[in-house]
Amino acid sequence: MTHHHHPMIPLREIDPSQSFIDDAAIWAQLDQITNPSQTQVEAVLEKGRQAQGLSLADTAVLLQNSDPALDEQLFAAAREIKDAIYGNRMVLFAPLYVSNHCANACAYCAFNADNHQLKRKTLKADEIDQEVSVLLSKGHKRLLAVYGEHPRNSAERIVDSIRTMYATRLAAKDGEGHAIRRINVNCAPMDTEDFRTLKTAQIGTYQCFQETYHRDTYEQVHTKGKKKDYLYRLYAMHRAMEAGIDDVGIGALFGLYDHKFELLALLQHAQQLETDYGVGPHTISFPRIEPAQGSDLSEQPPHAIDDHTFKKIVAILRLAVPYTGLILSTRETPEIRRELINMGVSQISAASRTYPGAYAAAETEREDEQQFTLGDHREIDEVIHDLVTNLDSIPSFCTGCYRKGRTGDHFMGLAKQKFIRTFCQPNALITFREYLNEFASERTREAGNALIEKELEAMTPARAKNVRKCLDKTDQGQRDIYL
Ligand code: SAM
Ligand code: SF4
Repeated sequence: MTHHHHPMIPLREIDPSQSFIDDAAIWAQLDQITNPSQTQVEAVLEKGRQAQGLSLADTAVLLQNSDPALDEQLFAAAREIKDAIYGNRMVLFAPLYVSNHCANACAYCAFNADNHQLKRKTLKADEIDQEVSVLLSKGHKRLLAVYGEHPRNSAERIVDSIRTMYATRLAAKDGEGHAIRRINVNCAPMDTEDFRTLKTAQIGTYQCFQETYHRDTYEQVHTKGKKKDYLYRLYAMHRAMEAGIDDVGIGALFGLYDHKFELLALLQHAQQLETDYGVGPHTISFPRIEPAQGSDLSEQPPHAIDDHTFKKIVAILRLAVPYTGLILSTRETPEIRRELINMGVSQISAASRTYPGAYAAAETEREDEQQFTLGDHREIDEVIHDLVTNLDSIPSFCTGCYRKGRTGDHFMGLAKQKFIRTFCQPNALITFREYLNEFASERTREAGNALIEKELEAMTPARAKNVRKCLDKTDQGQRDIYL
């Protein structure tokens, strides 16, 4: 488990009554370059390829470009960065909805307190255990635990539910059993004291999305409950870090407001955490609004973005924050997921269901219990087969860094690339082999082992030899080997 338990000391004085989102600066950047020239765009792309990140002004140039040929160059540059830094690994996880009880009234979400059509449920320990057993039996090792904001979902209850998830065992041949190895959490923001409590559950990343960084819009779509308070949510990650949670995930819900504004604001948020604590966010999420029961807004989002714009957002993020993980959910269809995976997404969920108790239930979707409609209904084995055969991508179930206490880490440039070759790539192969041996279909096992072989051949002989040893041990039945 993690070895870091230190609160993080802010590097400057924090004033949580003052927004750090600078609207004027964002609009100034966008107004300055309304129609960038080819030379300007190409200069920014060249900068992006150096993998040093981009300034707000650079990012604005890419956002304002409307030449489709230059957008294609942008996509190619994102692919280059992804290949150079991350290689072809893809981390897989499944969301676990623990509770759809919610006291807030977010205009876009089916869990909103005014949706009386929704059947409410908060899982008890034995129900959580059942859900986790089903996910383990499919080969999952990483979860994202999700909760509505409700007194039922206090920090203590959340901690209890996470302990239950970690404790669940799926029987295996050797008797030791399979267990979940990392649990990230998406729940309402807390005060620092409660974040300290949450930290005791050995969580991975704490996720909380600002939804929209535009304050007026924020106040229009959040009319009830604690979530009404824009600044309280904006400083959530500051409080989490103060409580010693150094692994945080930020995000915006695209469709509520101008996507260009949201993207630049996300970067301001990332920069602020960097300035204040010396560590940026571990991940960024960019959900698009999907149709949700009891939400008119979700049927026709005021600032809906098309697929091309969505691809641009992901590609620009890849260049702007090359070392930050990018998360993609099953809100999107398999086709779009395939394209985005190539452009720098580093984690995807698979075979998700978005209501409490869903995995043990027979139906994939339940209109009257789920949070939103899904775009990708494939089983995990099918997603993995697709990753391996169509995208040359290695599904990774690795959780090594987190368990060796290598969190909140912050390697840049060559150091990061070396780190990935030394740890991440080998660990991906070893954990993938474990999946192939125990959970995969015949066709996925064949395709997967062929890809592992190909990867070994591309490694230095010394490294390949070392990894082969670990793979052999895995084949002999040892589990959970990682570097
Ligand atoms: N209740 C907590 C909160 O609001 O932060 C955590 C759980 S909430 C279910 C997780 C995220 O789902 C929200 O932050 C929001 O971005 C996203 N979401 C809500 N409604 C959605 C919709 N209709 N389509 C896509 N994503 C949605
Ligand atoms: Fe509740 Fe979160 Fe849904 Fe808002 S987004 S209604 S807070 S579950």
